[in-house]
Amino acid sequence: MIHLCENPNCNLIANHRGNHSFIYKKAWETKFNDDDINKIQKAGYCTPRGGAKGGYQNHVNRNSKVIIPYEKLSEVNLDNYKDGYVIRLFPSQYFTAKHTINEIFIDNPSIIVSDNAFVLYRTYEDYETLPPLPNWKIRSILKYNNGTQKYDIPSNDRRGNIIDCGHYLLRISNSGTNKKQNLFEGPAQGIFAPEYADANTNFLCQAVLAWLIIKTEHSPYNEDDFEHLKAILQKHNLLNSPHYENDYIMHNGKTTCPLCQRVIMHNELNELISFDDEEGLTNSTEQVGSTRSTKVNLFHMVPLCYATLENIPTQVSWGHATCNTRLGQRQCFSYHDLLETEIEIEINDGQGQRLLGYANTAQNFIRSQTGDVWIRISKGEY
Ligand SMILES: [Zn+2]
Ligand SMILES: [Zn+2]
Repeated sequence: MIHLCENPNCNLIANHRGNHSFIYKKAWETKFNDDDINKIQKAGYCTPRGGAKGGYQNHVNRNSKVIIPYEKLSEVNLDNYKDGYVIRLFPSQYFTAKHTINEIFIDNPSIIVSDNAFVLYRTYEDYETLPPLPNWKIRSILKYNNGTQKYDIPSNDRRGNIIDCGHYLLRISNSGTNKKQNLFEGPAQGIFAPEYADANTNFLCQAVLAWLIIKTEHSPYNEDDFEHLKAILQKHNLLNSPHYENDYIMHNGKTTCPLCQRVIMHNELNELISFDDEEGLTNSTEQVGSTRSTKVNLFHMVPLCYATLENIPTQVSWGHATCNTRLGQRQCFSYHDLLETEIEIEINDGQGQRLLGYANTAQNFIRSQTGDVWIRISKGEY
């Protein structure tokens, strides 16, 4: 076993030269093939979701500025977002009538349009009835200029030392029968907040996912070649954590899909889904705008939400794209979890009462001892 630097925020080798660093992707990248490196890289990105129409950025790292919809503001803990946030307001939230600001935003130091908030125009109707104030400008990004020592270089890119300016964004599509043009002005403002993870958390999630790639069936890798990765996982209590087996992220040391419990084959990570499986994907929110998916994708044990950060190392795994779709925005309970509820579900199959399995407290998720799983898809009666 190799030894790591004793600094708790450093994952480099003991007695390393140079600065301390938490992030050390070479722990897997030096041995991984390009497809697997990309797979891990993508797992650290936000997935496209409603994307451009909401002013969201896509395909950027999770440790980015987030957009908080005004109506979600009371649910979130703003301290969670170490890379900053901006509040999104619709015209109908900010104005009560043409050029009349809703009084809750007057002398309100926590929500200031142009400072930590912007107004998003999605329809011509709003743009005409609740137009921007006469002195307002479209949102823009200014980059720091080392020469002038000011933020004065216009940019479309959020990377580097930048500031946001302006008041509103136009994302108006001509979807009706009118002959007006699409209005699309101002740069993307940030990422979907539930996808956020700070840089170190994002790195540890990637380290876990790399480890789970090494542990797939027919993996081309030998875990003995990844002593540095193992040492990093060990340092953060992620090497032999019981959650892997309890949550069926692994079973008997092999990577498994937590929903269907089948072993994940290494080739499924980068193989495109076959036609037979596509039926299961048609309702997937994750797949909107994209027509292709790999058979196995990043799988969250707990659905991402606004209230808490759930993209964390003990809750990420690999799972089938079709299983991800079937699970939808629900928590993935393991048999282990359900056994602890002691809620037994029985059925009468004609030969008397028989134990079907165990359920969660909401009784919308049941597993049998033999690995079958039932999820209630709609609310209401069974
Ligand atoms: Zn160090
Ligand atoms: Zn599965």
